[in-house]
Amino acid sequence: MPDFTSSTADIDGYVPFPDERCEQYLADGYWQNLTFHDVLDRVADQQPDRTAVIGPLRELTYGELQTRTQHLARRLVDDLGLEEGDMVVFQLPNCSEFIEAFFACSRVGVVPVMLLPRHRQAEATHVTNLTDAKAILTAGDRYQMGFDHIGLIEDIEDDCETLEHKIAISDADVPEGWVAFDSLCEPSDSEVLGSFEVNPCNPGVMLLSGGTTGMPKGIPRTHNDYVFQWEYMAEVSEVEDDWVAFPSVPIGHNASLNCIVGASFWAGATVAVEPNLKPESLMALIEAVGGNYTLPIPTQLIDILEHPNLEEYDLSSLEVVVSGGQKVRPKAVYEFVERWGVGFENIFGMAEGPLICTRPDDDIDVQAHTVGRPIAPDADEVRIVDERRESDAPAGEAGELCVRGPGFFTGYFRHEEENAENFDDQGWFYTEDVLKLNEEGNYEVFGRMKDTIIRGGENIYAPGIEDVIIEHESVQNVAVIGMPDERLGERPCAFVELEPGIDEFTLEELSSFLEDQGIAVFKHPERLEVVREIPRTEVGKIAKISLEEQITQTLQDEGKLPADY
Ligand code: AMP
Repeated sequence: MPDFTSSTADIDGYVPFPDERCEQYLADGYWQNLTFHDVLDRVADQQPDRTAVIGPLRELTYGELQTRTQHLARRLVDDLGLEEGDMVVFQLPNCSEFIEAFFACSRVGVVPVMLLPRHRQAEATHVTNLTDAKAILTAGDRYQMGFDHIGLIEDIEDDCETLEHKIAISDADVPEGWVAFDSLCEPSDSEVLGSFEVNPCNPGVMLLSGGTTGMPKGIPRTHNDYVFQWEYMAEVSEVEDDWVAFPSVPIGHNASLNCIVGASFWAGATVAVEPNLKPESLMALIEAVGGNYTLPIPTQLIDILEHPNLEEYDLSSLEVVVSGGQKVRPKAVYEFVERWGVGFENIFGMAEGPLICTRPDDDIDVQAHTVGRPIAPDADEVRIVDERRESDAPAGEAGELCVRGPGFFTGYFRHEEENAENFDDQGWFYTEDVLKLNEEGNYEVFGRMKDTIIRGGENIYAPGIEDVIIEHESVQNVAVIGMPDERLGERPCAFVELEPGIDEFTLEELSSFLEDQGIAVFKHPERLEVVREIPRTEVGKIAKISLEEQITQTLQDEGKLPADY
């Protein structure tokens, strides 16, 4: 086995870790030169009978998963002709096949690209072309996804020149021109795997940035930097090898792949998967498998807490609940901790790398109101910088989070412009998120820089106002955005979903509530839109960009904004 100490990836548009940083992280022991499949094999070689994956249709031990992924890896090369560095787009529900295919790709240096089940033609075409993907692996009829994913790929394939193979997970015969996933799992004694020495300093997976602004960007993560985070996440969450962990959001999202699946495989635990991510399915899964560890997004926490049949489910097996991706409502933290006695990790996470979270045994007030500390405080380099990105913000003041280290990516894939804008020449990545380090040494999140509404020169942090409005008894959900204004530039506008049974809520009520809470008048929303549902991104986060488009259109229709604004 060669002793890799730097990237050997020959992928156009990929920004590797500089050699000296690879060497340093290896020398410091932060990187252990383990590939994804090495992590699986370590457990499989020692404890092959331990359960690796449960469900939804089969249960696999670590030994069985090891063997199946070896067969599949051989066929990716022998039957499909895939080569090291090739990309394969995954668009799959949470199922055991996802995990099998993920580790199989790792064995032969093929890079899975994490399209999400709710992405559609535009994103699928963009991502396939961005990565020059040779194959797409998608859901056939095995899991009822309520959407024709095979049809989606057939619609886009003429626009995707590099695409050679379409693979479907299907029980029915696959359509002509498609490869059945099961046929690639047939045993194979080819010797081909012997010729692969996958370099852990090379990309092992391509994550995608959240879709709140335009098309997703490619976020390559190396085996080394990702496995580093699996290890630290497992340690921070105190994952035990007899735990059952389960992804509550799509596995293709970093929250699940890194913090739940990766951390569990690192610890030799079991991962239970369920394609349907509705609260009742997740609660049924927890009860059925005795689920201990998961990462739902904040909306899912609320959906569980407010579920009409909550009492019918036994969720007492929960040990650690992680939540983040958007601001977690303190109330949800208190309720989860008080009801089920869980260790709560309030997490600030980005597919680009930063994972900052509270620890299971932190004080509940810390868990409810802060996102704690970086998962690897000694290794993660974290700064809060001023608006001009010129120097560190004064201690205790909010500023832009800026990171570098063994667990953070080194550049968006084929996106020179974005990289030039958000990386400096020392390799620091500027996240565009506003955080502050408080006196107790815990980080607090204020939102995206773009979440700052600038009203006639006054800065208003939208999430700060949202936190107050959500406490109103009539409000179930809220998003505050800047609506364009000719005179002031922007004015705050609140989109609100009302609690069930509430039919009316007025701007006057909102303003007097905010006044009672001591919120400065210039921060009060000047328009209220009561909506049935606030639009969401593929993983369920509030899609502020759609709201901005919507309000701009409304203002133009009402003649309050010029048509060409
Ligand atoms: P993603 O692209 O899905 O990885 O989302 C990353 C973004 O989600 C970050 O850049 C933040 O803007 C946001 N985010 C993540 N965690 C939190 C949190 N705990 N509170 C507020 N925003 C968050």
